[in-house]
Amino acid sequence: MTASARLLIVGPQGSGKGTQGVRIASAFGIPVVSTGDIFRANIKGGTELGLKVTAILDRGDLVPDELTGEIVRDRLSQDDAENGFLLDGYPRNAAQVGHLDEFLSGRGEALDAVILLDVPRDESISRLKLRAEEQGRSDDTEDGIAHRLDIYEKETEPILAVYGERGIVDRIDGVGSLDDITERIMSALAARGLTLAA
Ligand code: AMP
Repeated sequence: MTASARLLIVGPQGSGKGTQGVRIASAFGIPVVSTGDIFRANIKGGTELGLKVTAILDRGDLVPDELTGEIVRDRLSQDDAENGFLLDGYPRNAAQVGHLDEFLSGRGEALDAVILLDVPRDESISRLKLRAEEQGRSDDTEDGIAHRLDIYEKETEPILAVYGERGIVDRIDGVGSLDDITERIMSALAARGLTLAA
């Protein structure tokens, strides 16, 4: 099933945005564009980009805006993103919001909705510790987790005010079963007229 939707999912690390993003995107038949996944795939593949960003990801810092913006523009220019996409992890600060706006408005497009997955910091930390045990991600150390949550609070949360002024933010309670949360997101999108093609 394919329905046009240009979505962004935002939430602290450990909010479950990766999992929910995949579910929502597959329901709409649109690709997930996750900058974190793109960076990790390049690190794993030992590409030039991967070599450039390994230390940055390990520290839990942000990759420079220019480089990240270029990667997102390239990805969104591929055919499968023509009718929609779900961005996960980009934009992450005010400058990136500006870059994305410029790129989308150049194509006569705009985001339809920003899904904010609301999860308390304590809950995020305990979920991330569990993920560290299960998946062994190199940035899921105790210091790494705290550092990334600090960056989220300082740099990423403020972008919600910008999108809030546009009236496109849906704040979703991110605590509950996976199915309940997916249902909450789908209802919020439906209320905006973003429904699956019949
Ligand atoms: P994530 O999987 O979204 O938590 O991203 C993992 C890491 O990739 C982050 O800690 C950053 O180092 C990097 N990263 C992902 N998205 C961005 C972005 N939009 N801007 C800069 N760095 C990013």
